Amino acid sequence: MAQTDEIAQYRALVAKLNGWRKAYYTEDAPSVTDHEYDQAYQALLALEAKDPSLVTPDSPSQLVGDAVSPDFTKVPHAVPMLSMGDVFSLEELEDWAARLAAGVGRPVAYNVELKIDGLSLSLVYEKGRLVQGSTRGDGSVGEDVTANVRTIPDIPQTLPEPLDLEVRGECYMPKKAFAALNAAREAAGEPPFANPRNAAAGSLRQLDVAVTKQRSLATFLYTVVDPERYGLTTQHEALAFMQRLGFATNPTSVVAADLHTIDTYITTQTADRDALAYGIDGIVVKVNDLALQAELGNTVKVPRWEIAYKFPPEEAETQVLDIEWTIGRTGVVTPTAVMTPVLLAGTTVARATLHNVDMLAAKDIRIGDTVRLHKAGDIIPEVSSVVMAKRPATSVKAPVPSACPSCGEPLVHLDDEVALRCVNPRCPAQVQEQLTHFASRNAMNIDGLGPKIIAQLLERKLVADVAGLYRLTADTLATLDKFKEKSVNNLLKAIDLSRQNSVERLLFGLGIRHVGGKAAASLAAHFGDLDHLAQADAETIAAVAGIGPTIAEAVTTYFQNPGAQVLIEELRAAGVNLTYRGAGPVATTGPFAGLTVVITGTFADYTRPALTALLKAQGAKITGSVSKRTDLVVAGEAAGSKLTRAQELGVTVMDQAALRQALAEKPKENDE
Ligand code: NAD
Repeated sequence: MAQTDEIAQYRALVAKLNGWRKAYYTEDAPSVTDHEYDQAYQALLALEAKDPSLVTPDSPSQLVGDAVSPDFTKVPHAVPMLSMGDVFSLEELEDWAARLAAGVGRPVAYNVELKIDGLSLSLVYEKGRLVQGSTRGDGSVGEDVTANVRTIPDIPQTLPEPLDLEVRGECYMPKKAFAALNAAREAAGEPPFANPRNAAAGSLRQLDVAVTKQRSLATFLYTVVDPERYGLTTQHEALAFMQRLGFATNPTSVVAADLHTIDTYITTQTADRDALAYGIDGIVVKVNDLALQAELGNTVKVPRWEIAYKFPPEEAETQVLDIEWTIGRTGVVTPTAVMTPVLLAGTTVARATLHNVDMLAAKDIRIGDTVRLHKAGDIIPEVSSVVMAKRPATSVKAPVPSACPSCGEPLVHLDDEVALRCVNPRCPAQVQEQLTHFASRNAMNIDGLGPKIIAQLLERKLVADVAGLYRLTADTLATLDKFKEKSVNNLLKAIDLSRQNSVERLLFGLGIRHVGGKAAASLAAHFGDLDHLAQADAETIAAVAGIGPTIAEAVTTYFQNPGAQVLIEELRAAGVNLTYRGAGPVATTGPFAGLTVVITGTFADYTRPALTALLKAQGAKITGSVSKRTDLVVAGEAAGSKLTRAQELGVTVMDQAALRQALAEKPKENDE
């Protein structure tokens, strides 16, 4: 029987872990790193193993995930959605496999897969039609996210066969989308997501489906529920079956009949990890024989027939040389640690965002400190902790600026925001970011107007806001550094051309909170012009397909602002088009004009919607399936049956490198 102090120690650990679990699973905002959680969880398991009488029903060892959020409709899972046991070294993995084989009494074959860093998702089809999407929740009851799931492009709405089927897999956010989302959130003063898993969870578990739609989520399916019904006997067959039905399945998995093959898979995938377009946090080893899986069954929390090999966190030590304060498009002031460059998980890291003043204070990071770095979700360099033993005796707390480093105006915290803000709308650093966004390819697409030229225009007070761009003349532009007649003419022409853009580009370029490219396009198409949108109330806007209350609120707030109203009038006076003109101008010449193109697989450099829009603008017709009428298949990573079909039919296939070459992107800056 446990002593009182042992019980107290155990209860404290349970309470601590459950607090962390709530932040992680329910709020999608972890308060500690996964490594720290895993270490505390292992300590809990060790206490419970030593004295099983300690175990209480609220112990994390007995729980999957966390209670479902009351904001969502509950979905009971007929077959529970479980967690997974984990090991942290090859030795532990070999022990697990040896124990399993000894129990079974014969050699066991495994299917080895990547452990995708996302959240698990269940999809239910009736007669081949998608009828329900749900999260894992607490394992028995999940959250209904059907409407959200319908916005994820790689999830089939209908299957090629009228099957009743439940499949499960991982919903994830590709690395590029994660990095872009966090950059946008930081610029808007919103807290960044700690890792792609939390970003995917926060994006899928959205009451405003329009927000989910903007978030570039993707999936890999890995489980067929009730596989016997479809004549499936192995996990390997189940993956092939799902792929045939049009689901995205991860292409790297292999069947391993021995430990050597598993070790080789782990070594190869560990080496290739940084190059993947999505984050992984380990390798999953599953008994391949589905009948044997059923025989082995589950504990209350985890299946006995699978195990996760978790990657050790990669860390590096370096020194903080400076703490820089940068100002984003919406005035948010963000601290960044500038460090002695160090190699970390495949890239050289010299800077790490410290997110906000609270985080800087909580970690007490000082100039001169030696710090340990890791990459959040495989991607974003982050300071884990300060190596206190190496702190110089003379060190002082990092000063927090009270005035904007760009314009000198006092900095403030709005409402209860953690973010420090400069609220001067004329602050040069903010205007610089706003102009850069306005001119960017997906906004007004002003070719040649990059950050360096914008910086010069602002420094010399030639423009003060986006409307000022339309008042620039050849004489003023000729005063810029290295600006010859040709550059002047090119830039003036690009600015002039942008006057003709359909209004969704302007709407996106204005940088209204939450209004991304897709929302701007829906709003422009619905209201027809900026004036009708500006006059609409939040309820009318929220009713537009693909738009919800969050975006609607942000749009009405923007147009009620007198400064915004003046800006719109200036743009109108400058001859900038404020009406919707349908899809952008479509190329009638060039390598893609008139071709019927199928896009398949994932691309490190493009999201699927961006690539679709890009090729459409080049005059291509994009279709979903490969046939004799297909002229070209653009195939990225993990291209599956469509690529095979193209090869069978002898259709031309282009990979990302060839695609880039064909698109022959022009350099953005005139002066580079
Ligand atoms: P898990 O994420 O370790 O493993 C189970 C999950 O793996 C499954 O539910 C599934 O969604 C996923 N998965 C990905 N690829 C898969 C594949 N190919 N096959 C099968 N499943 C696959 O377990 P968990 O219970 O969801 O969460 C535990 C993890 O969450 C730990 O890593 C822990 O560090 C982290 N966590 C962190 C905190 C924190 O505060 N930082 C709190 C709680 C949990």
